[in-house]
Amino acid sequence: MGATRALLLAASQNRFLRERASRYAFVKKSVSRFMPGETLDEAVAAARKLMQQNIGTVLTHLGENVSDAQEAEKVTAHYLQVLEKLHREKLETEISVKLTQLGLDLSPELCEQNVRRLLDAEDPAKTLWIDMEASGYVDATLAVYRQLLATNANTGICLQAYLHRTAVDVEALLPMKPSVRLVKGAYAEPASIAMQSKAVIDASYFTLAQKLLRGQVSGNVRRAAFATHDAKLIGNITEFASAEKISKNEVEVQMLYGIQRAEQVRLANGGWRSGVLVAYGDYWYPWFMRRLAERPANLWFVVRNLAGN
Ligand SMILES: Cc1cc2nc3c(=O)[nH]c(=O)nc-3n(C[C@H](O)[C@H](O)[C@H](O)COP(=O)(O)OP(=O)(O)OC[C@H]3O[C@@H](n4cnc5c(N)ncnc54)[C@H](O)[C@@H]3O)c2cc1C
Repeated sequence: MGATRALLLAASQNRFLRERASRYAFVKKSVSRFMPGETLDEAVAAARKLMQQNIGTVLTHLGENVSDAQEAEKVTAHYLQVLEKLHREKLETEISVKLTQLGLDLSPELCEQNVRRLLDAEDPAKTLWIDMEASGYVDATLAVYRQLLATNANTGICLQAYLHRTAVDVEALLPMKPSVRLVKGAYAEPASIAMQSKAVIDASYFTLAQKLLRGQVSGNVRRAAFATHDAKLIGNITEFASAEKISKNEVEVQMLYGIQRAEQVRLANGGWRSGVLVAYGDYWYPWFMRRLAERPANLWFVVRNLAGN
């Protein structure tokens, strides 16, 4: 891992920096490149605009880690309101949740109950996505996911291609017909747990993507979504799909709001399924720092906003 990336990931967990950064207008301005706003209404307005370009959306609320059951309840209640709003406004937008926000650290049972309440409120035709967090949470997240998937076929999980274990996790999930959002992985993990070089991670991603697409064709995977901004990788995946005669609307690419916008539109116009994850909420600092770490060149936007340009 590069030194800048390691530094930015370390800074993403620093409370002192978080409290200070959130106060500065130039930081907020830089964040706005990756977030339409802090409120749900702003996120929904962005979803509507993207819908006009035939781009699907997934909303995620950026909140602090919860420390008691009441806080997990507040997050659950918030997402119930979100689902209610999306249904009332007849939007195809889905949601993606972090299990630690819904009480995973407090009790996996409580967390599962909270997600079940969201699943009960969600349209079964839509997928309710579960984020994957740092490696210490993978076992617990997968255990909750399995319980949910056993009763709710429309539950989706994020899997990280950089983890050595992911190929085995995919294999183990296939008999349950999972929905998988495949990512490279956003956390700083040691070499014993995660691949470190981009070339190796990309190769792992492509191998897993082929497996998931083939699984989707054979009916072992309910839905595969490729969450990456990597144009070369996306090219390899779409070429593979064409060679396997998989129709374009069976191939879904998801990106983050504000990143590779032209590519999002190009894919949608080309007939592929194009989606965007829209984050909102006031606890954006760690999330924003992970985005900077993915592409330290983004620091340029922060510097430009500092200079008032
Ligand atoms: C929809 C979605 C959901 C995600 N959910 C999770 C999750 O639950 N758990 C998790 O660990 N990770 C998640 N991630 C993050 C993911 O793990 C990667 O950290 C992130 O997508 C960057 O990797 P990449 O695949 O784009 O490839 P990279 O190799 O990092 O980037 C490839 C190219 O994409 C562009 N790019 C990438 N990132 C940025 C950026 N921040 N700003 C500008 N350009 C950029 C650059 O041109 C870069 O050269 C999610 C990502 C997406 C898109």
